[in-house]
Amino acid sequence: MNNPLLDPAGLPRFSEIRPEHVGPALDTLLGEARAALERAVGPEVPPDYDALSAVLDVATERLGRAWGAVSHLEHVADTPELRAAYNANLPRVTEFYTALGADERLYAKIKAVATGPGAAALAPPRQRALANALRDFVLGGAELQGQAKARFQQIQQRCADLAQTYSEHVLDATDRWLLYVDEARLAGVPDDVREAACAAAAAEGREGARLTLRAPCYQPLMQYAHDRVLREQLHRAYATRASDLGEPALDNSAPMRELLELRAEQARLLGQASYAHLSLVPKMADSPAQVLGFLRDLARRARPHAERDLAELRDYAAAELGIADLQPWDLAYASERLKQARYSFSDQEVRQYLTEPRVLEGLLRIVETVFEVAIRPDHAPTWHPDVRFYRIERGGELLAQFYLDPYARAGKRAGAWMDDVRGRWRRPDAGLQTPVAHLVCNFTPPVAGRPALLTHDDLITLLHEFGHGLHHMLTRVDDLGVAGIAGVEWDAVELPSQFMENYGWEWDVIRRLSAHADSGQPLPRALFDKMLAAKNFQSGLQMLRQVEFALFDMRLHLEPDAPARITALADEVRDEVSVVPRAPYNRYPHAFSHIFAGGYSAGYYSYKWAEVLSADAWAAFEEAGVFDPDTGRRYRREILETGGSRPAIDNFRAFRGREPAVDALLRHQGMA
Ligand code: ZN
Repeated sequence: MNNPLLDPAGLPRFSEIRPEHVGPALDTLLGEARAALERAVGPEVPPDYDALSAVLDVATERLGRAWGAVSHLEHVADTPELRAAYNANLPRVTEFYTALGADERLYAKIKAVATGPGAAALAPPRQRALANALRDFVLGGAELQGQAKARFQQIQQRCADLAQTYSEHVLDATDRWLLYVDEARLAGVPDDVREAACAAAAAEGREGARLTLRAPCYQPLMQYAHDRVLREQLHRAYATRASDLGEPALDNSAPMRELLELRAEQARLLGQASYAHLSLVPKMADSPAQVLGFLRDLARRARPHAERDLAELRDYAAAELGIADLQPWDLAYASERLKQARYSFSDQEVRQYLTEPRVLEGLLRIVETVFEVAIRPDHAPTWHPDVRFYRIERGGELLAQFYLDPYARAGKRAGAWMDDVRGRWRRPDAGLQTPVAHLVCNFTPPVAGRPALLTHDDLITLLHEFGHGLHHMLTRVDDLGVAGIAGVEWDAVELPSQFMENYGWEWDVIRRLSAHADSGQPLPRALFDKMLAAKNFQSGLQMLRQVEFALFDMRLHLEPDAPARITALADEVRDEVSVVPRAPYNRYPHAFSHIFAGGYSAGYYSYKWAEVLSADAWAAFEEAGVFDPDTGRRYRREILETGGSRPAIDNFRAFRGREPAVDALLRHQGMA
């Protein structure tokens, strides 16, 4: 049998994997994993870390690695045949992992390992891996008995259904709203948006333009349309989507209330005071009170800056736009005009200086300098000729390898991401397995004879994904469950990625990374200064907006009476935090999918939380020099190399010698 997905050794044979390999490979691998689980929970495997790992981890890791290769190809080299094979097999893979996470016999076995005679002698990373595994079982309801257990499972199912209903309402409310207007009313709107709206009307045999609430239409209209009455109409429609002020069949009020009540009940069943408390159990933040204090501190410190931002906007709107009473539907419009007036430069202008070979070369040299490694091209089978493959070494020792898939193309999913191919692991059945990562971007490909040109956003994206990649690849932990990004708390996982973004805002770095495609000249300093100023445009207002959402989310999942007063609570939080005018009809909670239908319930704060950590870590480099090898070594050892083997707060303290502080973030955003 020559199924490349069943090759247990080495790197995935990407160039040989065909859709017809998927089903048979999963028959084998799922069969082996199920058999391994049966063996692992039986009497022949003693309650010993290595014995359990040798049976269960070896089989599940092999399954995970093969399925990872399939889903990676489905993301970056999709074909109808591959998608069909992926979709046909996804349910049984999901089903296996769900059953694994709820297997009571396995829970008992892991508990026996954690409390057995050898447990105290286990190295701290292994103890942490065990503790995480037990915690996840408990949060999945493994300790519940009888009626409580049945009720817990019932709640989980009902919550999944309600979240689905909620999303469908938001989607339908967004899709069903349409407005047909004369093209003349779109004055100010960019040509491509206007043309698309007119083409949509023409396709229905109508005159004029067809407007929708979908982002590619709604956002540019709110930013650019001179027609104030039109903006108000769009704003009202958008802000009342899926609410009591919209179409009754799509009102999310009842699903929201039920979801919040069920989440609170779920938390009580697990012995937690609220869903907010439950959400924080596996996270870095200690308690809802700590998060509330953190958010309120940010709000207090950003407020004067936000007030100044708003005063400037009001003055500009009155003097230049003839808008004397700034309304909610004017904010995006007036802001865009003010931004244009102050910092006009084009992405196209910047792109001419950011040629891909030079940027990539410069980025690799930075990583080599700061983290004391050598990065060289390497060879491996890939899925497309544009894909590159590299190895990372230190003193001749192979640390890790990575694929870089830079360009957009047909069959490749949009966006950018880091994914693991395999994790670092001192295998019970072989030697040391070094980590391998995917770095995937969607840059505009080069045109014949010229290098690819990156926007500054592209550069920041590349740095961000590199940060995730280094977190995964520079680990020195030998236990799969806590090596690299595995086991890192969810609200700390963006620290290394956002940290790396800072290099894209350093003049010293940009000077070296840039070279004009024709002249070879570095990016002019004056242009860079404009970019920097534009980055911090209205940072006070933006900070308060994010804090408002995060505070609302936390209180919503913390306060017992919140389910019955969602809109009132949203108003209360707005009155506490916000400085901008707000329409009384605003029902943003009814379309806040992050917290009602995504994974961010009682977790929206984590955006700001991780930003504070990364900014404060970066400040250590600003103090010592952004290429300082000593600081780089400390950061590497205490944060990247330890990863999930230690609580994130311990990693941070070990690096910084103190608790995280918000000052650096405020300073970086011009709010010092
Ligand atoms: Zn990220």
